[in-house]
Amino acid sequence: MLRRGCRPLLCLWALLPLVSLHRLNQHGHRLHAAKERPKLLLVSFDGFRWDYIDRVPTPNFLALMKEGVQVEQVENIYITKTFPNHYSLVTGLYAETHGIVANEFYDPALNLSFSMETDSVYDSRWWEEAVPLWVTVQKAGGRSGAAMWPGSDVKIHGMFPSQYLPYNMSVPFETRVERIIEWFSAPREEAVDFGVLYWEEPDESGHRLGPESSLMDVVIAGIDEKLGFLRNELRKAGLYEKVNLIVTSDHGMTQLSTDKIIELDEYVSRDLYTWVDKSPVLGLIPKEGKFEEVYSKLVDANPYMAVYKKEDIPEHFHYQHNIRIMPILIEAQEGWTIVQNRTNPFMLGNHGYNNTLRSMHPVFVARGPAFRQDFVKPSMHSVDLYPLMCHILSVRPLPNNGSLLNVKDLLAQEPTAISTPSPPRVNEYSYAPVIGSLISVVMVLGFLVVYIKEVTLKQLPSLPHGSKEMSQPLLQEDLHLHFLEKQRGCVRQI
Ligand SMILES: [Zn+2]
Repeated sequence: MLRRGCRPLLCLWALLPLVSLHRLNQHGHRLHAAKERPKLLLVSFDGFRWDYIDRVPTPNFLALMKEGVQVEQVENIYITKTFPNHYSLVTGLYAETHGIVANEFYDPALNLSFSMETDSVYDSRWWEEAVPLWVTVQKAGGRSGAAMWPGSDVKIHGMFPSQYLPYNMSVPFETRVERIIEWFSAPREEAVDFGVLYWEEPDESGHRLGPESSLMDVVIAGIDEKLGFLRNELRKAGLYEKVNLIVTSDHGMTQLSTDKIIELDEYVSRDLYTWVDKSPVLGLIPKEGKFEEVYSKLVDANPYMAVYKKEDIPEHFHYQHNIRIMPILIEAQEGWTIVQNRTNPFMLGNHGYNNTLRSMHPVFVARGPAFRQDFVKPSMHSVDLYPLMCHILSVRPLPNNGSLLNVKDLLAQEPTAISTPSPPRVNEYSYAPVIGSLISVVMVLGFLVVYIKEVTLKQLPSLPHGSKEMSQPLLQEDLHLHFLEKQRGCVRQI
């Protein structure tokens, strides 16, 4: 009788480690609840092209590469502009999914326009198609600090970063660094775990001078000095060996020329459309009833620009499925500038071009306890950074377009099944919760069948105390998580 009664319990105990493993998979961050949480600082030097480090001596970048890792070609997201790419770095999503589709765009449902130049950026509704990593870190019980990162002074899903600086471009880089260091150095309960730091250069100089100008050499050397300042401050605060440091950018920069200008007024009357965003990739909203006229006048007008109907935008751009993307998209070829006519302002350098161009790619170096040393990786996608950062911070990634598998070779320690949940991709279904839930369901059913049978026969054995309480909440939680997973999967379908 006793032996018979024990059989379901033996099954239960045999399967319990699997369920526990699954539970830790879902909540990797709990592993770090008792010990000190990992630290990560993400730095963006706006418009720092990948090959700038080879152009002048950049001893601080070189030191980070020696102490850590470098990725030579990071393919960023389309369009290669500042706001879309900065939001992709902290969400792992393409622009069509995170909703910040350009530096300037229009939302027909809201009937409002977003512009990085105006206070419109502070309207939460622009940002809430995604959840930035600082919010996820805080929801997992951690703290974050943000110095001027695009979107980091906006309330998103009800939260600001735990510490942040309201955007003010006149605040010097050194001040931003000092604040970040203070936040990381605070007493344990108040210290931030995740920091983001943004600096406007060398983007501004790149636009003004053109990246091929010899004057850019001084600018690049100046950025390396700024990185040196950051390294020194981290060392002085005793943080250099504790904090994982990632230095990257949103995009590169290419040289423009007054010989390469496309004037739309030559091809179509400006009365027929509304112009959204700026060269080299812009949206047009044809006036009512004028779609075909505008499109047909532009589609073959100039060999140096591609004109797409929204539904024909190539799939690999991942830039179509959002109402904030306009009915007609125009993309200039590298180095070309689209204006209405030559009275429009002109710059010597620009970005925003096709994201497969090497000139559009950003720098990427990283070092710290999580990273390998002296390792060069040929390429990655910028959306893979988000699952990598989630892994380093031990927080569960939300559905995203990247994969930890693509970048796990950057890590000092190969991710294990327990500490690194493989991030769900937007269009893929994660099998881990399904398997966990199936095991759970089989266990519950099996246990109930035998239990009822035993009760019916009035032969219920005395169960070891606590075993029921141990197993039931686990099962319920797994089923609940499975449900949440499905819900999220639906929301993120693109
Ligand atoms: Zn930028």
